[in-house]
Amino acid sequence: MNISVVIPLFNEEESLPELFSWIEKVMLENNYSYEIIAVDDGSKDKSWQVITTHAQINPAIKGIRFQSNYGKSAALQVGFEAAQGDVVITMDADLQDSPDEIPELYKMISVDAYHLVSGWKKKRYDPLTKTIPTKLFNAATRYVSGIHNLHDFNCGLKAYQNKVVKNIEVYGEMHRYIPVIAKWAGFDKITEKAVQHQERKYGVTKFGIERFVNGLLDLMSITFVGKYGKRPMHLFGTLGVLSFFFGVLILVYLTVLKLIFSSEVSLTNRPSFYLAMLTVIVGTQLFVAGFLGELIARNGVERNTYSIGEKINL
Ligand code: UDP
Ligand code: MG
Repeated sequence: MNISVVIPLFNEEESLPELFSWIEKVMLENNYSYEIIAVDDGSKDKSWQVITTHAQINPAIKGIRFQSNYGKSAALQVGFEAAQGDVVITMDADLQDSPDEIPELYKMISVDAYHLVSGWKKKRYDPLTKTIPTKLFNAATRYVSGIHNLHDFNCGLKAYQNKVVKNIEVYGEMHRYIPVIAKWAGFDKITEKAVQHQERKYGVTKFGIERFVNGLLDLMSITFVGKYGKRPMHLFGTLGVLSFFFGVLILVYLTVLKLIFSSEVSLTNRPSFYLAMLTVIVGTQLFVAGFLGELIARNGVERNTYSIGEKINL
């Protein structure tokens, strides 16, 4: 199968019919074999009915329904697990992303052999309250991830090689950072494509202001898990040792001052003495945190989960 289109959706009953027929049209015109995996993230409206009605007419339309609203990342994850196409394309259900981009995205993955192509909403039709924080976010994400060639990490329209989606795990609200997760998993042929962006036609946005706080925290955990998840001691140990020896250095300096130069000032009257104590203690604690982290990581079920790029005869 050429293409799997994965669509996470929450209360999008008005958009779905238009979206399905538009995707069908593009697929037919280009002679692609395809499937559409609509993941209903616990919608309260008639979205699931719309999906089942269309699925009965067109067997390429498949549906997965969550019993409750687990979030966009969870919906993407189960869609990824089900996807059979060589190229997997994700798309928001609200018609803000255009299915007309599919052929070019497909080509960039299958011919140009990119692991991941992210859409870039070069001209956005969203309110300023959304676009300005997004700019800051993208800058921060570029900086910590080292993926400097993406303008827009959180575009819903993305294309992947099948093996990429099978080897990454998206949970919480990590969908904002899929390119980063993919890069940590070793899929680093990442690029972007400027895409058309429409105003939301029906319904309202499903994410509120809390997206910015959660987004920042997620960026921190993802960097930590990606870089040090399997070797926490390297982070905590390094910080701990640095802090510890910084403290020891100050203490040595103070001792020399006191014993050799017989300084008049008493040790406890020196702020640097307290600083030294603090950094020695913090250093020891960081070191212990590293050990504990290491113990936990060793016992984790995922300790030997590595992302696999290729297999033959297996
Ligand atoms: N979505 C979802 N679960 C949620 C929230 C959103 O599956 O809990 C879907 C939503 O239906 C849409 C996509 O994620 O298909 C993007 O959501 P939205 O358009 O509201 O986000 P925005 O464009 O405002 O960033
Ligand atoms: Mg939207």
